[in-house]
Amino acid sequence: MSTSADPSRGIETLAIHAGEKPDPTTRASAPNLVMSTTFVADPSAGFSVEGLDEDTPFIYTRWANPTVDQLEQKLAALEGAERAIAFASGMAAVSSLLLYTLKAGDHAIVSDITYAATAELTNELLPSLGIEITKVNLSDLAAVQAALRPNTRLIYAESPANPIIRLTDLAAVARIAHEAGAKLAVDSTFATPIATRPLSLGADYVVHSLSKYLCGHGDAIGGAILGPAAELAELRKKVAIRTGGILSPFNAWLILRGLATLPIRMRAHEEGALAVARFLESHPKIRRVIYPGLPSHPQHELATRQMANFSGMLTFQVDDGPKAAEALAKHLQIIHYAVSLGHHRSLVFYLPSADMLETSFKLNPAQKAAYQSYAGEGIFRLSVGLETPADLTADLDQALLAI
Ligand SMILES: *Cc1c(COP(=O)(O)O)cnc(C)c1O
Repeated sequence: MSTSADPSRGIETLAIHAGEKPDPTTRASAPNLVMSTTFVADPSAGFSVEGLDEDTPFIYTRWANPTVDQLEQKLAALEGAERAIAFASGMAAVSSLLLYTLKAGDHAIVSDITYAATAELTNELLPSLGIEITKVNLSDLAAVQAALRPNTRLIYAESPANPIIRLTDLAAVARIAHEAGAKLAVDSTFATPIATRPLSLGADYVVHSLSKYLCGHGDAIGGAILGPAAELAELRKKVAIRTGGILSPFNAWLILRGLATLPIRMRAHEEGALAVARFLESHPKIRRVIYPGLPSHPQHELATRQMANFSGMLTFQVDDGPKAAEALAKHLQIIHYAVSLGHHRSLVFYLPSADMLETSFKLNPAQKAAYQSYAGEGIFRLSVGLETPADLTADLDQALLAI
């Protein structure tokens, strides 16, 4: 660990300095962007991934790259993890973690509600490789316990879950996993390390889409896995290098720059989201708002316990979702009607429950009912950006006149 990653430092200091140091040759203060696929090698270095260890000099960028390495160190410092590995996207991180932890004949319990591509990956590709998957509502601890099997190797959670913002009690699920000899992995994209540090609650691995809050500016896609150094070194050799979904140094450099302001951005996202959530909750055309920071969130008590920041994601429901989606797409002047989240720009998108349930979440009737208790007929997922909160509420107010 470099002294810049000293964990006794404040989170704002770590976000700026961890993983970085002035360039020894040029004394440049900002991190170098090293756009080189290859590095001039010592002829004694082997050409096998097997011989690679975490302090081998740089050889080839698919194995390791100085800019990506700085990002990995900063991410690990922020999450309180021993190690991080960066990937080309959040989904490259998710799929690599699943391929590393599971093999044919293993069983995994996966949250019945996850990011759509994770749901689809675990509905189709993983079972086709002989990996058994059970989808479980992880907010129901008895259901988690009941789904365990002798060959359960992994529980995979997402908290808060995209898109409905349902939480999982991570400490409780970690205990259940460990008593059964399984590991807990958590997609913590919606929380960020500013809100929740799953490893400190007992989780074994964390995954992030860096494309969201961690980059924060909507211009670079990336992902990461965080966890124990020895396992991640093995994961890098056996999966990351061989499946090859590694992060471009240029994207790493953009994400490094975004991360420097993560703690202060998250404070502003939370402040804006609380203002917008309260405004929507009191608006006559809004049927329901779900935001972990509102006392009306069904798990507000857990959110208060588990999230040091309520983040910037909320959902709202209206009477006629499809009509409102058209009105918002047409009339919003500041907020973009677009997918994705965690950017400085506010983004809103409509997700009809019937579509989500049919294409992504293939649920049993009880799970469907639990989904609908959060999402009704459909939700607007609103990622509250960093604009002036009063401008966002005014923008929503004028657009809602049209519905
Ligand atoms: C966006 C997202 C992902 C996938 O990340 P990409 O960078 O788009 O591949 C995974 N999980 C969650 C919760 C997300 O929001």
